[in-house]
Amino acid sequence: MSVIAMDGKAMLGYGNMRIPMHEDGAIDYETTFAMVDKYMASGYSYFDTCYVYEGSEALLKEALVDRYPRESFHITTKTSTIICETEEEMKAQFSTSLERLGVDYVDTYFIHFVTDRVMEKIERFRAFDWLRELKAKGLAKTIGFSFHGSAELLERLLSEEEGIDIVQLQINYLDWEDKKVQSRRMYEIARAHNVPIAVMEPCKGGWIAAEESDAAKVLKEAKPDASVASWAFRFVAGLPGVYVILSGMGNPEQVEDNLATLKDFTPLSEEERALTLKVVDMINAIPRVPCTKCKYCTNVCPKKLNIPKLMETYNNLIVFNALESSRYVYDMMIPNPNKRASACIGCGKCAEMCPQNIDIPNYLEELVEKLES
Ligand code: SF4
Ligand code: SF4
Repeated sequence: MSVIAMDGKAMLGYGNMRIPMHEDGAIDYETTFAMVDKYMASGYSYFDTCYVYEGSEALLKEALVDRYPRESFHITTKTSTIICETEEEMKAQFSTSLERLGVDYVDTYFIHFVTDRVMEKIERFRAFDWLRELKAKGLAKTIGFSFHGSAELLERLLSEEEGIDIVQLQINYLDWEDKKVQSRRMYEIARAHNVPIAVMEPCKGGWIAAEESDAAKVLKEAKPDASVASWAFRFVAGLPGVYVILSGMGNPEQVEDNLATLKDFTPLSEEERALTLKVVDMINAIPRVPCTKCKYCTNVCPKKLNIPKLMETYNNLIVFNALESSRYVYDMMIPNPNKRASACIGCGKCAEMCPQNIDIPNYLEELVEKLES
């Protein structure tokens, strides 16, 4: 039985995976502070981060923990077992997270990125037992896991693991019937177990929030004053059992837009849902790599390649079908030969980490063929 109380209304969560940056790669503190202040002023207070979100925990300390009373916000972070070799390493992540965040407990502690492949480690490290110990000691008020595995595994974990308060699932209208992500099926399993749901990637990393795409035009025609992102939020917020919707907001305007959507929230009508299906067909008709720029892959790449940037290059190549200009942009964007697609050694570690199941080495090979030969 979860200790998280639901009042039937999904709240907006402040996702901190993609943090605001300046052009030169420095963290944009001014924008972050403004976003945190706007978000806190709205009455919501749920902040989500993770041990492997680069710079995110330390940024939350400065923008939130040092500026607001501890009891005024709910902070979650996660242990990333996939990058640990031992149980001790996994446990050390918790102390590091507390230190980076400047707190002596977290409101929710998750096991990050649970997949079928990573279960061997999770079981060997007795990660769920350890989470329950943290909860019993009051170091984590609630516990859960973020999930990217199979429906069978989700069913097993929610049946067998005691004391799970919340499960974090990738749910959006683009992935609702997607054969790999299976948002609908995952949602139904969590509902059958009556576990509150934290929704991640409600806009699929921005894919269904872009204002300028052909798909966006369809939504704009139907509702000219509504943002494209608002459709994605209304889709997930209309699902019973959704406790929080995590939004990786990039600027104060996005915070405002998300807040306005949820404040005057009405679920999508039948007609509007039908329109989202049309949008899904339009998006799926363009064979792009569904990279959400989460950067999980870059943490494990031995060559330290900027994989999201390489995937973006691939997508531009496909969408614009302009070989010469793609080559030019590629040369400008990634001039260092050690950082280009041809530096990939094909180890496959990145693909194991990719929540979108992208066969990254394969796309890199194609990039080499098209842009480097
Ligand atoms: S397959 Fe290539 S891109 Fe992926 S982790 Fe290995 S070296 Fe990096
Ligand atoms: S390739 Fe996959 S793991 Fe890497 S940034 Fe894109 S979605 Fe994330």
